[in-house]
Amino acid sequence: MRPVYLDNNATTRVDPQVVAAMLPFFTEHFGNASSMHAFGAAVGGALKTARQQVQSLLGAEFDHEIIFTSGGTESDNTALLSALETQAGRDEIITTSVEHPAILSLCDHLEKSRGVKIHRIGVDSRGCLDIEAYRKALSSRTAIASVMWANNETGTVFPVETLAELAHEAGALFHTDAVQAVGKIPMTLAKTEIDMLSLSGHKLHAPKGIGALYVRRGVRLRPFVRGGHQERGRRAGTENIPAVVGLGKAAELAALSMNDEQTRVKALRDRLEAGILASVGNCMVTGDVDNRLPNTSNIAFECIEGEAILLLLNKEGIAASSGSACTSGSLEPSHVLRAMNIPYTAAHGAIRFSFSRENTEQDVEQVLAAVPGIIANLRAMSPFWQGDGQASADFNPTYA
Ligand SMILES: *Cc1c(COP(=O)(O)O)cnc(C)c1O
Repeated sequence: MRPVYLDNNATTRVDPQVVAAMLPFFTEHFGNASSMHAFGAAVGGALKTARQQVQSLLGAEFDHEIIFTSGGTESDNTALLSALETQAGRDEIITTSVEHPAILSLCDHLEKSRGVKIHRIGVDSRGCLDIEAYRKALSSRTAIASVMWANNETGTVFPVETLAELAHEAGALFHTDAVQAVGKIPMTLAKTEIDMLSLSGHKLHAPKGIGALYVRRGVRLRPFVRGGHQERGRRAGTENIPAVVGLGKAAELAALSMNDEQTRVKALRDRLEAGILASVGNCMVTGDVDNRLPNTSNIAFECIEGEAILLLLNKEGIAASSGSACTSGSLEPSHVLRAMNIPYTAAHGAIRFSFSRENTEQDVEQVLAAVPGIIANLRAMSPFWQGDGQASADFNPTYA
């Protein structure tokens, strides 16, 4: 079976050009960037180049605004914890109910362990933020507002530039988890009021375990990982040079393929979506379809389980993902779809297809050939499917 990978919001394939850029830094240029000899110097230059490549992709003003970390999760944790420690008298965090666990689970922990007040701003049925509630939550107690640039499940894009300005009016810092947005939508951070931004290598064809935190010049940062003086004392630990070089190369390639992402990749996504909507009844696209990442489609199929769809897609060689976290052993729909109040009967059968520049028309054809049959078979077995497009009244219509 020809494999079709449509789970690029979970992780991406490392680009062969990224691998090629990394290879010399394992066996040839293996020095420690902090060393005072030629081996160290060779590596120091590569570190600087990578920093400039990431700076350029983000449209940041200075290369030293980029701090390399172990990934999106560490960047998110660093931003929030630092904000709490650098602003006396400000002890509240504003975030949203649809963030990645890297933010939400940290906030839960801070709330329980330190009594930090967390405002989790809700979204409407398209996943758009309740701006009025966000405005009202901001106060002289707010340390930081953290809102993702784009949602990983639905692709919905948030108005982070405006949200950053509102945060500043209240004297608070603004952070954005841009892990899904970087490389997919153009950004010029120098022209925004965003103070901190998280990105992750493995969501843009670089390796796993490398990421960056952008910290605007002048914003105080309290290190999360303490030790040596690497990264100007802001993130300790010997730099993972091969991965840093890979992230730099991936940033350069992402800038070059941004146009392709906005046109060809988006067209593939739109064709898949239109094809499914035309051939399968009782399904809906979730998220803000007018304001979405170009690569993401989240489709909710009524009256069937997302896990079952994934298993049958997998048999056809197709990799996608479902909204519910089957790993947790629960069949609760994802917190994102719940926050959007997507009807339970549909949220349960939500499937996310996420594209990258590596996908082709053939991929779309293969999925379109498989999906209608899979959905029909599963619905034929579903006790909740009445055959007339209506879910049975027995199908639990509410969330736990
Ligand atoms: C993947 C992801 C993360 C986590 O990044 P890692 O590098 O895997 O730690 C954080 N936020 C969002 C929105 C993500 O999609």
